[in-house]
Amino acid sequence: MQHPAAPVQLQLDFEEGGAGGGERAGRRGARARGESAAGPGGNDARRGASDAGGRPAVSDPDQGPSGETPGDIFARVFRVLRPRTPQPRIVIEWRPYANPNSSVRLENGTLSARISDVFQGSPPRVIEALAFILLGKLYRKPIPKIYVHRYNCYLNRRDVRRGMHLIRQARGRKFISGPNGRVHNLAEIFDQLNQRYFEGIMACPELGWSRGVNRRLLGHFDPCHNAIIISRIFDSAKVERIALEFVMYHEMLHLRFPTEFRGARRCIHSGAFKKCEREFAGWEYARELLKKL
Ligand SMILES: [Zn+2]
Repeated sequence: MQHPAAPVQLQLDFEEGGAGGGERAGRRGARARGESAAGPGGNDARRGASDAGGRPAVSDPDQGPSGETPGDIFARVFRVLRPRTPQPRIVIEWRPYANPNSSVRLENGTLSARISDVFQGSPPRVIEALAFILLGKLYRKPIPKIYVHRYNCYLNRRDVRRGMHLIRQARGRKFISGPNGRVHNLAEIFDQLNQRYFEGIMACPELGWSRGVNRRLLGHFDPCHNAIIISRIFDSAKVERIALEFVMYHEMLHLRFPTEFRGARRCIHSGAFKKCEREFAGWEYARELLKKL
């Protein structure tokens, strides 16, 4: 659950239930990212660097012609976006990220694209979409919707989601603090809400507090680790307990209403989800408290 006052941002990254930094915006400037933090295990990256030479431009950029390497595709997209700029050396690195984060950077005449190996073996059209998104961000060019749509469609594919889910489980060493805080115990709050709103039938996932006092991401449910993480901002006697209960309730609803996937779209908070959310006793008051955090 994000802070209610947080601005709405373009979300390019796959994130079931809004975990981690998925709702953060990509940064601009000398580098462009699909996401911010690299997944764990970034140092022993399985690297397959490839170089793209100055091959002739392909006439139909939507075709994703066979025989093009990812480096060729990035070079072609570069020429589309910067037709008058000499093409830099292009290096593609595959990184074993536990999520689809990718980034691109221009340094000393070399354009390095670090691509999550979630995309290794994906169709050329998907690499092309990724190239348009990353290079578009790098050069602050509007990104045609078709590429965002194609990228999202790929990440929404059932087999791709399943693959990512397994990768995350295997690689993502998630820090989970456990339910005990300085002031509140999350297991206690979960149990009370479970009795009050779910007839006590909800199985308790892993519970933990965020490492830092996160003001933007107030809570999230991580389906890969079956964990609800709550911002430490609530572990204080100064914050009314009902605010914490409401955030926990919201995350419990993610357990009850899993994210729905349709084409390129993901529905994280469905109509049924929102309807249930309003059944929380003191809904309006709790929301006001969150705005004041
Ligand atoms: Zn939510």
